[in-house]
Amino acid sequence: MDQTSTPSPAKPLADAPASTAPAGKGALVDPFGRAVTYIRVSVTDRCDFRCFYCMGEEMAFLRRKDLLSLEEIERLCAAFIRKGVQKVRLTGGEPLVRRNLMWLVRALSRHLETGALKELTMTTNGSQLTKYANEMAACGIRRLNVSLDSLDAEKFSQITKGGHLSAVLDGIKAAQDAGMKIKINAVALKGINEDEIPDMMVWAHGQGMDMTLIETMPLGEIGGDRTAQYLPLSQIRDNLAARFHLSTIPFCSGGPARFSEVEETGGRIGFITPMSHSFCENCNRVRLTSTGTLYMCLGQEDAADLRTPLRAGLDDAALENVITEAISRKPKGHDFKIGREDGKPALSRHMSQTGG
Ligand code: SAM
Ligand code: SF4
Repeated sequence: MDQTSTPSPAKPLADAPASTAPAGKGALVDPFGRAVTYIRVSVTDRCDFRCFYCMGEEMAFLRRKDLLSLEEIERLCAAFIRKGVQKVRLTGGEPLVRRNLMWLVRALSRHLETGALKELTMTTNGSQLTKYANEMAACGIRRLNVSLDSLDAEKFSQITKGGHLSAVLDGIKAAQDAGMKIKINAVALKGINEDEIPDMMVWAHGQGMDMTLIETMPLGEIGGDRTAQYLPLSQIRDNLAARFHLSTIPFCSGGPARFSEVEETGGRIGFITPMSHSFCENCNRVRLTSTGTLYMCLGQEDAADLRTPLRAGLDDAALENVITEAISRKPKGHDFKIGREDGKPALSRHMSQTGG
């Protein structure tokens, strides 16, 4: 489809309500009537960890010239914000290993001050938070997702291939001391952390943090079979329900998780089940890679190159038209299937590339 073609008329999804987010004049609305109000921006494909389900042994990282500069990222984010995006999440790779990232955080925080942006947030492995938490909080970041798959230092080091649990725990404390609210994200891994999940939940809730569990998704070659790691969250939920009283609640953290409240801890546990339950109906998000490729869906290959028009010197209005055209191609849903017969991942790109 060429860049100037007209978006298809809105068709509501038959089986689900569209996003309830306000769609103002000129807002981004996809062909299924869902308003796109949330962008996840991967600022680097690099990371100081090598979580085995996320990255392969031999990762080829991007060349510097292919990466968007921080100024380019800011310009694209500003265009999305003008088009009605209200929430920006910085991710990666590990966002805090991108040099001078605080420049971008400061630049984006100006949109919080004007009120155009409602939330600036980040998903991080937490290893660098002791260094950056105060500045992040001062820039208006109120909430963070910290990924943590084990509270056992040795197991943590094995999962991340050399990461230090103590650095992450110190980082979480620094972020909390700076006033940020943390949600712990853990990937449920069969035979690796499944027995630990109830204790991790009690720990997280004891520190005033919600916790969300994620199923492994078939993204990128990792030099192994993902079927071996896949653990349906329905099973984890059943195990938790045998020990705790869980009641499903309508709470929404802005993402696809379904939450339950745990009577014994008073905390919340979320379940993100992309594999076993369609989580696309209310999808309000798109993902921008560190090379300026916009993925309209985490689980599909179709994408729009925003870097070429950006570097060609398009003015703001033309750039916004490119974005509008891309949103007109947002698909209805993903197409994940784990344990495919050919043993290949559903998508060749890694989560660290697209941005988790
Ligand atoms: N480095 C940061 C972190 O770990 O939080 C941000 C990027 S990371 C790619 C974002 C999230 O994606 C993490 O919670 C990670 O556990 C999750 N993730 C990575 N690969 C995954 C996969 N194949 N399936 C499910 N979750 C995955
Ligand atoms: Fe790095 Fe996050 Fe991927 Fe782990 S999940 S390797 S911390 S990008």
